[in-house]
Amino acid sequence: MKLRMIRPKFVRLMPDRIENGILYISIPFSTAIHKCACGCGEEVVTPIKPTDWTLTWNGEAVSLTPSIGNWGISCQSHYWITDNKIVWSRKWNLRQIETGRSFDRNVKASYYGETRVPTHETRQQASDTDSTEPQ
Ligand SMILES: [Zn+2]
Repeated sequence: MKLRMIRPKFVRLMPDRIENGILYISIPFSTAIHKCACGCGEEVVTPIKPTDWTLTWNGEAVSLTPSIGNWGISCQSHYWITDNKIVWSRKWNLRQIETGRSFDRNVKASYYGETRVPTHETRQQASDTDSTEPQ
């Protein structure tokens, strides 16, 4: 059964048994874990990091951004956790998943300071600069 709500529970260590409908959050380990909201029973780990997920908590409700796309498990479910609510999103097709993954790689590469292949945009900017130079 698809969940509509999830409840945050702050823990230090993740419990052995992850219960349905609870988002376990460990601040010391910068991680959150919950069971896939579609009800398939798979555990979904969302690291809280600048390059992964951002967790916001207003004292009652939590939100995770970006969305949670479970492409690695068979249900392929895709949803947002916004103010403790599960907001169901469209399933992605293979192409969208690939685009999302390469976007992810770029974010990580730039965060960790690796050399990045110039994108179309940066090349465009470079040629703009060239044309404004005095002739
Ligand atoms: Zn699922």
